[in-house]
Amino acid sequence: MSILHATTGIDLDDTAVGYAYRSQQDLRLAYAVFRLLRYGSAVRLANRLAEQALRFRLPVKGLLRQTLGRLFLGGETLEETLSLLRKLQTYQVKSMLDYAVEASLHPEERERALSEYIKMIGFAAQYPDLVDCIAIKLTALASPLLWERLSQNLSLTPSLKKEEEKFHYYFSSLLQLAQSKGVPLMIDAEESWIQPAIDAVAEQYMQMFNTDKIIVYTTVQMYRRDRIQYLRDLLEKSYKVGIKLVRGAYVEKERSRAQSKGYPDPIQPTKAATDIAYDQALMMCLERLDQIGLCVATHNRNSCMKAAQYVLLKGLSPAHPNLSFSQLYGMADPISFGLAKAGFRVVKYVPYGPIDRAFPYLSRRAEENSSLSDQSGRELRWVAEELARRQKGQ
Ligand SMILES: Cc1cc2nc3c(=O)[nH]c(=O)nc-3n(C[C@H](O)[C@H](O)[C@H](O)COP(=O)(O)OP(=O)(O)OC[C@H]3O[C@@H](n4cnc5c(N)ncnc54)[C@H](O)[C@@H]3O)c2cc1C
Repeated sequence: MSILHATTGIDLDDTAVGYAYRSQQDLRLAYAVFRLLRYGSAVRLANRLAEQALRFRLPVKGLLRQTLGRLFLGGETLEETLSLLRKLQTYQVKSMLDYAVEASLHPEERERALSEYIKMIGFAAQYPDLVDCIAIKLTALASPLLWERLSQNLSLTPSLKKEEEKFHYYFSSLLQLAQSKGVPLMIDAEESWIQPAIDAVAEQYMQMFNTDKIIVYTTVQMYRRDRIQYLRDLLEKSYKVGIKLVRGAYVEKERSRAQSKGYPDPIQPTKAATDIAYDQALMMCLERLDQIGLCVATHNRNSCMKAAQYVLLKGLSPAHPNLSFSQLYGMADPISFGLAKAGFRVVKYVPYGPIDRAFPYLSRRAEENSSLSDQSGRELRWVAEELARRQKGQ
């Protein structure tokens, strides 16, 4: 039992609670997959092979569906996610829906993403007990090239200018719909070279739409050296801000671009430095909980415990309407369900989408669980512990 567990009474390692919603078969699959994921170079190779196989339409979809898909995807369509969402809700865990497709390079993909987002908002409004909010990728609604040029204040070609106008038209319509249905949208954070324009859009629309309820959330990545100051400025805004706080997903990509282009590395020098920045940001946000919306989006046990401990020590309700915790579906279940059991608002991030289009998401989960040995080791240990516990019939 950790000191924080002893002082708060909250257990974020209880596998019986964490995996109550998982069948024995699911757990055995998770055990096998997490064991395989420990072989980092083999995982990277398998990912490349699967990518090629999908490109050449070789029959690998079934295998992906039965392995990574079953572990990390809520389904291939919105409707398919329903049974999972209902199961999660039995344990007081709601969902953040994510249409797990990558950045759109073609106009027709953007149209498809837009209509899917419209569908998701309708679905969330239809099932308010199951769905808390929707994750939105601005790179699914406008091309990364547009975000990059806007971020660097470069001029736009006529076609990019048109794309920008179209984006604003569609995005504001989407937000009007979300506001009318009371469904919050959380904008994902992306690579630092396209993020300035995404931040600008997030701020512009937070100001417009976060009137009564917080409808727009932005994401702040605390692995970036400049984000404490950014957050400080954000917290001073005169409108209500919604913040999803993450560490950040692109360490290697950010470092190698900075090195190849010869600019200073924008990422904290070490994992420990990122952890310190994250927890500092967490405290800054928690101190403003009466004015902002905060989603603590992390699998980090210590950060979750610190946030929970703060709430309890300040005498706030764990179910504070401005605070939620979020972890990805298929990961950190003892943390999610442990927090929910203690009365905190937990929203599981549930991605869905056609298996071939969701493959980049799945391959990132696979690589994340192999490159961060702590993470994969912990998931494997938890699953093994739960299988052993069930075998003993405890
Ligand atoms: C609900 C949810 C939504 C998310 N949305 C986004 C999003 O919109 N955009 C996005 O970028 N990410 C997003 N992520 C991913 C997130 O940024 C992290 O990559 C992931 O959650 C792992 O970090 P952690 O806090 O869970 O845990 P931990 O395992 O404690 O931390 C791992 C993280 O620490 C940092 N880190 C690791 N090694 C180093 C190092 N050597 N130097 C500096 N920092 C290091 C990295 O950020 C790494 O991801 C999301 C995660 C969740 C759970």
